[in-house]
Amino acid sequence: MTEVPRQARGVIALDPVSCTSCMICVRECPDWCIEIDSHTEEVTEPGARRPRYVAVLDRFTIDWGLCMYCGICVEACPFDALFWSPEHDYASQDAGGLVHETQRLADWLSSAPQR
Ligand code: SF4
Ligand code: SF4
Repeated sequence: MTEVPRQARGVIALDPVSCTSCMICVRECPDWCIEIDSHTEEVTEPGARRPRYVAVLDRFTIDWGLCMYCGICVEACPFDALFWSPEHDYASQDAGGLVHETQRLADWLSSAPQR
């Protein structure tokens, strides 16, 4: 069997802890295959005069049936939350199976060499 190079664009891994739900990848993706749901939470830090508001990620999906593997989302992310993984064994017999949810995208992290 031919070995897949470590730098191959197989699948994109998500680090949900680093993702700030900034939506830049969603806006930059030319195929509109990334979807994000998030909500805002109030955070009051000790000594702060005013609370601040942070976006909290609820759901992040990539539809591999639409993705053209251009890598724009990985390049555009300012928080290093997206990484290429050479893993490519995720074929599905139905279109819904090509939509990877947050946890599945996070599971690819262990195989992402740049991480
Ligand atoms: S650009 Fe990065 S930090 Fe912003 S929503 Fe996308 S993955 Fe998350
Ligand atoms: S690789 Fe390109 S097409 Fe695929 S999700 Fe990222 S920006 Fe969109």
